[in-house]
Amino acid sequence: MDFLSILENFVESIAGKDAVKLLGLLKERENISEFKLAEDLKININQVRNLLYKLNAYNFVYSTRRKDKDKGLYIYYWTFNFKHARDVLTTRKNHELGNLQEELKKENEQRYYACKNGDIRVELEEAMELGFKCPECGSLLQQEDSTKKIGEINHKITTLNEELEELRKPVSIIPKPEEEVKVRKARKKKIKKAKKKVKRAKKIKKAKKTKKTKPRKIKKRVKQKKSSKKRPKLLKRLRKFRF
Ligand SMILES: [Zn+2]
Repeated sequence: MDFLSILENFVESIAGKDAVKLLGLLKERENISEFKLAEDLKININQVRNLLYKLNAYNFVYSTRRKDKDKGLYIYYWTFNFKHARDVLTTRKNHELGNLQEELKKENEQRYYACKNGDIRVELEEAMELGFKCPECGSLLQQEDSTKKIGEINHKITTLNEELEELRKPVSIIPKPEEEVKVRKARKKKIKKAKKKVKRAKKIKKAKKTKKTKPRKIKKRVKQKKSSKKRPKLLKRLRKFRF
């Protein structure tokens, strides 16, 4: 089992199958807009946010906020922190391993004796005191077969050790900073547009200077402005009249 499979299993256990699909998108690149994630997953924005918050509870994801000038609101861009996820998983798996080893030790040390009718279950010492006879039904107490349970615990320990070995390897999943590149490109485009506007304005100015036909339009604009200025004066007069 590789790191991604270990991580997918954990993500599914904390946030469900949609979160695994989300992880699939987040491993591709950094700073993905929450709207883009919703679109790709074919779920609504609140569902995406809900999944992200569940991952955020483990600090698996982090976001940056940017203001969208067209929509006039802040949009969150999300990135998955694979190195941190690996550290979290390592800690958890180590803890789990410790618990299993303790359980195994107990299972090996202690012998339980039980009645076949399920009346009692006691340790060796107590069973000896009872003369290996059930005080309820009088049947012989039998030593419980712990080999099956020990086998199960050992299997879990082997799996955990394999996973931990996998988690010790350097993280190879590094999301590409593609979104940032897009943002940079967009900024460059904006700068280019602004420069073009300046150039156009300069050209128009030059044209105005050389051509004599242009001033007519300017005169018209001035006239319009005059007509629009009349309103405030009228309002002032009305106010004076009222008071
Ligand atoms: Zn009994």
